[in-house]
Amino acid sequence: MFYYLSAVIFVVGTIIGSFLNVVALRINTGKGLMGRSFCMSCGKTIKSYDLFPILSFLSLGGKSRCCKTKISWQYPLVEFITGLIFLSVFLKFYSLAYVPVLVPTFWYLAFCILIVITIYDVRHQIIPDFLSYTFAFLSVLYFVGDKSLTSIFSYPEILNFLAGPIIFAVFSLVWFVSKGRWIGFGDGKLALGMGFALGFSEALSAIAFAFWIGAIWSIFILLFQKLGIAKSKFNFKSAVPFAPFMIAGFLLAFILSADVFSLNMLIFGPAPF
Ligand SMILES: [Zn+2]
Repeated sequence: MFYYLSAVIFVVGTIIGSFLNVVALRINTGKGLMGRSFCMSCGKTIKSYDLFPILSFLSLGGKSRCCKTKISWQYPLVEFITGLIFLSVFLKFYSLAYVPVLVPTFWYLAFCILIVITIYDVRHQIIPDFLSYTFAFLSVLYFVGDKSLTSIFSYPEILNFLAGPIIFAVFSLVWFVSKGRWIGFGDGKLALGMGFALGFSEALSAIAFAFWIGAIWSIFILLFQKLGIAKSKFNFKSAVPFAPFMIAGFLLAFILSADVFSLNMLIFGPAPF
């Protein structure tokens, strides 16, 4: 039953992923989200049997059936990653005795928004405001959830509530001082929702992960360039979209319930064992 459910969740994730691809490509283009999928090259409607996530791409050899145009790797990659993310949300809550259904629902929804943000940021180097704000708004609802108002504004919950605004403030400062060269203002707005969703120690862990993953990524790219494998003109001065790294850090902190700075001990005191 467990493996069956896991497989179903993964497949559902890949199907949602193929929808998120379409959403990210149609944002700010004036095209609706509903119409049938069509070939980006010749405009022909894509047959329904060619719309299977990942499998269609593989069986078609990465080329469209209508005009043999190369299909971007983005499609199967996003489908696969969405499948994996859905699976990790499922696994995160599967073993818990009782989880209100709205909790995993929030995480599935949050990651859908974040995946669209990632695709959009990679393509356009900008994050649409309404996506960050929707994410932040949902995260506040999630944070407030079952808490009473008095508990939110008492220690230590207040610290968890302030995580997003604090990171946002620091990012804004860095953005202002560096005149937008080190970090985008959009990354700060994204951090807002991440803070509300994760709380203080996990949110700071997510940011730490983001910088580490970004650093490792940069080193690999530079190495590949030295070896002549990568052709892009990347160097340490290039503006690299940071949102994908933040979202990867967010995912990692969420999966691991990470506390890389051991802040929980400071905030909440020793664990009650
Ligand atoms: Zn075509």
